[in-house]
Amino acid sequence: MCYYHAYSHRCGHTEMVFQQLCAKGQMIQQKCARGQEGIILTTVKVEYPCSACPKKVRTTSRAG
Ligand SMILES: [Zn+2]
Ligand SMILES: [Zn+2]
Repeated sequence: MCYYHAYSHRCGHTEMVFQQLCAKGQMIQQKCARGQEGIILTTVKVEYPCSACPKKVRTTSRAG
């Protein structure tokens, strides 16, 4: 399985950020299938909610 950093957000969600292919992934030059957990190199604590969460802060830029 490939290597990831885990971003532990304030909302409680953890976001996996791809870092590096494992040996198997390097052979096919592809990440292992999604859904496989992967190997977490580092867990980073983040003080704000993840991007998937409904946000309280709105940016008034363009829509869409
Ligand atoms: Zn892999
Ligand atoms: Zn979240």
